[in-house]
Amino acid sequence: MPTPKIVNCPHCGMTVEWTPENFYRPFCSERCKLIDLGAWATESYRVPVDPQDENDEGAEPGNTEEKR
Ligand SMILES: [Zn+2]
Repeated sequence: MPTPKIVNCPHCGMTVEWTPENFYRPFCSERCKLIDLGAWATESYRVPVDPQDENDEGAEPGNTEEKR
């Protein structure tokens, strides 16, 4: 029986056995998984909006190169 792969929990760094029984892999626990995925999802929702994109009234079609 091969030794299970050991990974580090991305959230707390704790060593975790990567086994089919470990439902929360690569996290060490449900708590770390929820915290880490929750933080990641929150970050991804904060899509940076370029304020210059809203100022398109005077822009001519095909002239987007000089917007910066
Ligand atoms: Zn953890």
